[in-house]
Amino acid sequence: MEKIMNYIDGGLIEPSSKKYLDNYNPAEGKVYSLLPDSDIEDVNLATIAAQQAFASWSSLPSEKRSSYLQKIADLIVRDLDALALAESIDQGKPVKLAKNMDIPRAAANMSFYASAAIHFASEAHITDTQAINYTIRNPIGVAGCISPWNLPLYLFTWKIAPALAAGCTVVAKPSELTPMTAYLFSKLCIEAGLPKGVLNIIHGLGSKVGQAISEHTSITVISFTGGTVTGKKIAATAAPMFKKLSLELGGKNPNIIFADCDFEQAVSTSINSSFANQGEICLCGSRIFVERSLYEKFVDEFVKRTKALIVGDPSDEQTNLGALVSEAHLNKVLSYIELAKQEGGEILTGGHRVKLTGRCADGYFLEPTVIVGLGHQCRTNQEEIFGPVVTIMPFDSEDEVITYANSTAYGLSATIWTENLKRAHRVSAQIKSGIIWVNCWLFRDLRTSFGGMKQSGVGREGGWEAIRFFTEAKNVCIRL
Ligand code: NDP
Repeated sequence: MEKIMNYIDGGLIEPSSKKYLDNYNPAEGKVYSLLPDSDIEDVNLATIAAQQAFASWSSLPSEKRSSYLQKIADLIVRDLDALALAESIDQGKPVKLAKNMDIPRAAANMSFYASAAIHFASEAHITDTQAINYTIRNPIGVAGCISPWNLPLYLFTWKIAPALAAGCTVVAKPSELTPMTAYLFSKLCIEAGLPKGVLNIIHGLGSKVGQAISEHTSITVISFTGGTVTGKKIAATAAPMFKKLSLELGGKNPNIIFADCDFEQAVSTSINSSFANQGEICLCGSRIFVERSLYEKFVDEFVKRTKALIVGDPSDEQTNLGALVSEAHLNKVLSYIELAKQEGGEILTGGHRVKLTGRCADGYFLEPTVIVGLGHQCRTNQEEIFGPVVTIMPFDSEDEVITYANSTAYGLSATIWTENLKRAHRVSAQIKSGIIWVNCWLFRDLRTSFGGMKQSGVGREGGWEAIRFFTEAKNVCIRL
């Protein structure tokens, strides 16, 4: 059985404990590889390597840093099929999705920040004829990057790339549930000749490795993506140490459909924004609000198309929904479906575990589920489920739907469907959310910033924001 290794100081090495954890293929419900059960010792080794590499990496000409990142991007493109297959096996997502979204985006993240490294500039302000002020932005030092299981390589590279581009060295931890592509990535870094110690990848449990990264006194900046509860723990550890923090957390995103929308576009994209990646995308629109005059028509069509989705073997090109990431997560999602029933919800389609045959007989599959008849304030509509489960609710006015949309503790993303431009601006301005899509979903320009409001997080990723995040600003004022 394949053993994943830590990547420390340029080499692939065993965890100091020599202990390993089981890594499951969620579509088969079987262990298929082992990953290091690392601990504080490994984080210490990685941090020492990162500290030693910092002086030379941070002072390397930006063209040189850029060329390493671009080389890694090119290697990801070269290995696209193998990486997509690995991601699909490890996470449960359809291989088609990994091929079209996850892995191309991982390559784009590296390429984008390869380019950003050479285009980044700091500010200068001339105060009339009296003074020149300019800002020096130095890389902070060793960065801790902690990422989740839903978009493994995509989100892992989204943190690592700007940190390296800015001149930081990195100690990174992928989710213990999906370590494989981070491991393959470490091999690509070795092939690209990335200097040793610049990037270190430690595998293992969040409670050990993640906690050790958050606590380490030599890791002075932390970029985290994951659940709100974990984000609170990291903040409780790192904030009193005055570490710089970026926390990208959970969501409970509204998808608002006005009667004047382009119906076909709204329905087809909503199917995608509800169930893509088995609903395990922080940006999925899990609360669908439909203007009452369109409600019945929308529900009928949405349910019809949901029933037509294929839940199946992730390696099959026809599959729309693969397996959920773990049995524990499947049970969590099923428990929310039970809760929805207790709260008075009516399941229009779905609601059950899917039992496939053959190699996927023990996989963690779930029917895409559509629930109606719930109010916006019940727990089903307030708490993040993070699976292929959506609720649909009618609304009568703009003000009413804005209240509904803003009624959760989260504020990550929102989608609005309307052909009325003024309404689109008006409603967008009032929704408390880090990103709002109008008549589209998941469209991303990597130059724009991204992040959550309220309990969906603090800080912004993407574009220059991420490079600035990994740097420390120092202002110099020269009196003329
Ligand atoms: P978790 O918060 O459980 O885990 C995220 C990462 O943190 C994992 O690597 C995990 O390790 C690690 N971790 C766990 N405990 C600690 C700790 N005490 N200290 C430091 N690190 C720790 O999230 P999930 O992996 O379950 O991901 C799903 C969540 O991520 C959802 O809430 C989703 O909305 C959110 N998310 C947010 C995004 C955004 O951009 N805002 C994007 C994608 C997802 P391990 O897995 O080993 O426990």
